[in-house]
Amino acid sequence: MTTRIGIVGCAGRMGQMLMRETLEGEGVSLAGGSEWSGSAALGRDIGELLGRGPLGQVVGGDARALFEASDVIIDFTTPAATLEHVALAAALGKPLVIGTTGLTPEQSARIDAAARSAAMVWAPNFSVGVNLLMALTRKVAATLDDSYDIEIVEMHHRHKVDAPSGTALGLGRAAAAGRQVALEEVWVKERDGQTGPRRSGSIGFATLRGGDVVGDHTVLFAAEGERLELTHKASSRAVFAKGAIRAARWAVGRPAGRYDMTDVLGLSA
Ligand code: NAD
Repeated sequence: MTTRIGIVGCAGRMGQMLMRETLEGEGVSLAGGSEWSGSAALGRDIGELLGRGPLGQVVGGDARALFEASDVIIDFTTPAATLEHVALAAALGKPLVIGTTGLTPEQSARIDAAARSAAMVWAPNFSVGVNLLMALTRKVAATLDDSYDIEIVEMHHRHKVDAPSGTALGLGRAAAAGRQVALEEVWVKERDGQTGPRRSGSIGFATLRGGDVVGDHTVLFAAEGERLELTHKASSRAVFAKGAIRAARWAVGRPAGRYDMTDVLGLSA
């Protein structure tokens, strides 16, 4: 059975990649793509938008109609747009795969509430490699004590609007879970001027921005006399799109609830 996938925010960097991968993927078909009312892409042929021949499907402006025509919807947009889509998914009982980052705790809680009515898969990073890195980070953090300082370094392209990246925060959360502490109680997201010495047990973040970097993440465990570094580098957005499509196929027919990529990949602790 072919899974019909709808892509909201389809003209964005990830939206286009998701449509490309859906058109080429096995066992999936493109139910359609939608954008917000002010988007210049509205009404454009999707094939032409993707730089291939005309497809006969145009970018729509009616998210509800797209949800109704789809078995599952994928959303890589903005926090405000995602909340609109989350409400729609809950009202229609349609599974939703969310890749949007930069959500506040309140916005994330609204996904939790909506997940009582539909399956919602949210992940800060849909690449299989990064999700393995998260599992490894948790395991290493559980093994090494506080004498190993944990620092997370990330670099992304110059257009990224949130920092630290959702993936870096996810890695921080994995490290904190390994140490059985709450990330919010130990994180250090900025250092400037007279910071004083490093607080034992803290988890530090460093953010780099520039060029066209798709996404680099390193988790460092630094002790006296040795340093362990776990690194992942994404060189194509296709890895996120492939992972999101895998999550979309997995989500169809799942009971309502909030899931993440570790559930999809069977990596849950
Ligand atoms: P982008 O700005 O290129 O695309 C966002 C798209 O959403 C735009 O086309 C915009 O018009 C559209 N949009 C905005 N409001 C909308 C609405 N109300 N309805 C429909 N569409 C709407 O951004 P991007 O680089 O594609 O990234 C999008 C999000 O995905 C960001 O939060 C980014 O951090 C995240 N991201 C997540 C992963 C992951 O694996 N989870 C990977 C890459 C990017």
